[in-house]
Amino acid sequence: MQLNVLILPGDGIGVEVTREAVRVLEKVCSTFGHTLKLTEGLLGGIAIHKTGTPFPDETAKLAVEADATLMGAVGLPEFDNAPPEKRPEKGLLGIRKVLGVYANLRPVKAYPALIESSPLKNHLVEGTDMIIVRELNGGIYYGTPRGIEGSGDTERGTNTMTYTRAEIARITRMAFGLARNRRKKLASVDKSNVLETSQLWRKVVNEIAPEFPDVELEHILVDNAAMQLVLNPKRFDVLVMENMFGDILSDEGAVLAGSIGMLPSASIGDQRPSGAWVGLYEPVHGSAPDIAGQNKANPLGAIGSVAAMLEYSFGLMKEAAAVNAAIESVLNSGRTTADLKPEGAPATTTEVGEAVANAIQ
Ligand code: NAD
Repeated sequence: MQLNVLILPGDGIGVEVTREAVRVLEKVCSTFGHTLKLTEGLLGGIAIHKTGTPFPDETAKLAVEADATLMGAVGLPEFDNAPPEKRPEKGLLGIRKVLGVYANLRPVKAYPALIESSPLKNHLVEGTDMIIVRELNGGIYYGTPRGIEGSGDTERGTNTMTYTRAEIARITRMAFGLARNRRKKLASVDKSNVLETSQLWRKVVNEIAPEFPDVELEHILVDNAAMQLVLNPKRFDVLVMENMFGDILSDEGAVLAGSIGMLPSASIGDQRPSGAWVGLYEPVHGSAPDIAGQNKANPLGAIGSVAAMLEYSFGLMKEAAAVNAAIESVLNSGRTTADLKPEGAPATTTEVGEAVANAIQ
C-alpha cells in the first residue's frame, strides 16, 4: 500500500515528538512492505515566522492532497499577546476546518507499567481501555446567537447550543462502528433531563441503535459520566458526546493515563470511497515551552497517534497493533522519559523513539 502522509511538526516539542513518530512510521512501512511518501508543511508559530500566517494556503493544499496528516503541536510564548488572527493556535482551527473533521477520538488506556503514575488507586484504573468520541464542529462553541451586549446590571452574555439530526447521526454511527470493533459497548453522554439538544441527541441515538444490534447501548447523564470516569473507568468502552461535554470529559479521561505525554488523538471526517477516513492525528499535549529543545519530551502520545492513523485512515490493523505492542514493550522495559518517573536516569525523546522503532515486529 502507498501511504501519502503530510507531516506538520509545528512548534516547541511538537518538532521533537513528531521526529520520533515519523521514525516509527518509517519502520512500520519498511517492516510490513508499504511505500511511504512524506511531505512536510508549516503550521503554527513557525508558519507565522516564515510566511506571516499560522495556516498558509500551501499547508491547506498539502493537507487536502494527503491521505492523512500527522501533527506535532503549535504554540510559542512570544505570541501569547498577539491578536487572534496572528496566534499559532489559529492554525489548528484552520486545518480542522479545511479537512472537515467532525469527530475527535481520544483513546485512554491504562498501561500496567504506568499504573503508579495515575492519580487514581491502582485497582480503579487497572484495565481501563476506552475511546472518548467528541463531536467537534457543532454545539455551544459554534451556535448563534452569541455575544455580550448591554451594560451595567443588565449586561448579558449569550451562547447557543444547537445540533441538527444529521450532525448527531453521523457521529453516532461512527461511535457505534468503533464499538462494534472493540468490546461492543457504547455509552452516549447527554443532559437530557435539562437540555432540548440532549433530548434530540438521545432520540437520534436510539433511532440509530437498531442498525448495530450487536452493540450494547447505555445513556448516561454527563454529571454521572464525570463521576463514573473516576469511580469506575473500566466500565466504559466507547463514549460519544457533544462538543463541550467532550472537551471537559476528555481532559478528565486524560488524567487516568498518568501523563499527558502518553495520549494520542485522532480527528476524523468523512469516509473516502476507498473506505479510509479523512484524518488528522496529533498528541493531546501542547508545545510545552518549559521543556522544548531539551530532548526530554515523551514521544509516546505522538507515536500512539501513528497507530491511530494506521488504523483509521489506512485500515492497517496489524500494523497499528504492532505500534501499540512496541509502545507497551518499551514501557515495560522502564526506558521512559522523565514525566513517567523512571527509577533510573530518564531516557531522552530520541532514545524512546528509537526503542519503539526497534521493537516493531
Ligand atoms: P502543554 O501540553 O504544552 O504543557 C503542559 C505541561 O505538560 C507542561 O509542564 C509540559 O512540560 C508537560 N508536557 C506536555 N507534553 C509533554 C510531553 N510530551 N512530555 C513531557 N511533558 C509534557 O500545555 P500548555 O503549557 O498549557 O501550553 C503550551 C503551548 O501549547 C501554548 O501555546 C498552548 O496554546 C499550546 N497548546 C497547543 C495544543 C495543540 O497544538 N494541539 C494543545 C494544547 C496547548
